[in-house]
Amino acid sequence: MLTNAIKGVKDILPEDVRRWRKVESAARDIFAVYGFSEIRTPIIENTVLFARSIGATSDIVEKEMYAFKDHGGDEITLRPEGTAGVVRAYIEHKLYAKNPVTKLFYAGQMFRRERPQAGRLRQFHQTGAEVLGASEPSVDVEVLAMLSDLFKTLGIKGVELQINSLGCADCRPKYREALKAYLMKRYEQMCPDCQRRIETNPLRALDCKSEHCKAATSYAPAMADYLDDGCRGHFAKVKEGLDDLGIAYAVNPRMVRGLDYYSRTTFEMVAVDKAGAQNAVAAGGRYDGLVEELGGPATPGIGFAIGMERLILMLPDEGEAVSGPALFIAAIGDEAGCLAQKLAHDLRKSGVWVELDYSGASLKSQMKKADRLGSRNVLIIGGDELAKGAAVLRNMQTKEQADVLIEGLADRLIKRLV
Ligand SMILES: [Zn+2]
Ligand SMILES: [Zn+2]
Repeated sequence: MLTNAIKGVKDILPEDVRRWRKVESAARDIFAVYGFSEIRTPIIENTVLFARSIGATSDIVEKEMYAFKDHGGDEITLRPEGTAGVVRAYIEHKLYAKNPVTKLFYAGQMFRRERPQAGRLRQFHQTGAEVLGASEPSVDVEVLAMLSDLFKTLGIKGVELQINSLGCADCRPKYREALKAYLMKRYEQMCPDCQRRIETNPLRALDCKSEHCKAATSYAPAMADYLDDGCRGHFAKVKEGLDDLGIAYAVNPRMVRGLDYYSRTTFEMVAVDKAGAQNAVAAGGRYDGLVEELGGPATPGIGFAIGMERLILMLPDEGEAVSGPALFIAAIGDEAGCLAQKLAHDLRKSGVWVELDYSGASLKSQMKKADRLGSRNVLIIGGDELAKGAAVLRNMQTKEQADVLIEGLADRLIKRLV
């Protein structure tokens, strides 16, 4: 117990963090040119926030939330996704009063009690972006452009952008009724989950993984046929805008997303593996009713979240070598050791990566260590050299070495190594 992480959570070790930082910094750069600012919201929120925003009948709220009563009796939940907290902060701090359109991004841990045997993590990372205050289809296009830019920049292959429209509060209820009526006739064929959800959330049957449900819904009515003029026109403009920018996409009429708050445009960046299995790496959509639902002024919104663990698995392998320190100082004896530490301190203050030996080992083993670290240069300070006020500087690539005077050495090395 003491030396095992909790089931479904994972350490990210130093050799992997490099890939994480690469993705994180690419995301930050791209979000910046689209005018998004970072927001950092707490990991814990009041449970009611998620029940209200994600929907009480969603899988997340029904089965997966880390919800608990704290010692004061407050109902707290570890955030299972990022949008609810961002929207809560947007309302709480009246960000809508500062700008008509607010563009925000976030990155961090999310928590869901998923089945670890299915390869799902219980603590996972999402990076997401939200635009609040604009309902125009051109905003949807911009958000999708930003998402596909990121995937392109990272060189990710084998993904497809899929889009759909879920209609709005005016036209979706009619579709829900039509779908419900269709599903009721096939009630016996469907899985227990879908049977249970038929009243509360019939749309979920469309993306159920059960073969029975897939078969039962293969001729189900499609939302596209129920969109009212406003929603149909909006969706047409989104597709047109994507075409204009040369962004490839496929319309997937069965994409419903599991969260209640979506309306109109929904989308997923889907990874298709060799076996043809599809897995969303990023997902999002428009949520025009959410801000109002949570007590803010009527404000349209759209956003997405990227599953970072999945995205990082898809990064192309670049086999890039980690560059080692600029200098390793091999010191023999106490006096040389003190000098080495002073030198290292001066060089590090100037931004030079310096490594030292701490063990007082032989020159041979210190040289081995320098080699293992991939040091580009080694400075050897030994008793004989020290007596002459000199040291030996060795270039590990060319194997050339030269005597250097210790007097003023830090300044000369800084010039050379920075
Ligand atoms: Zn509509
Ligand atoms: Zn089902």
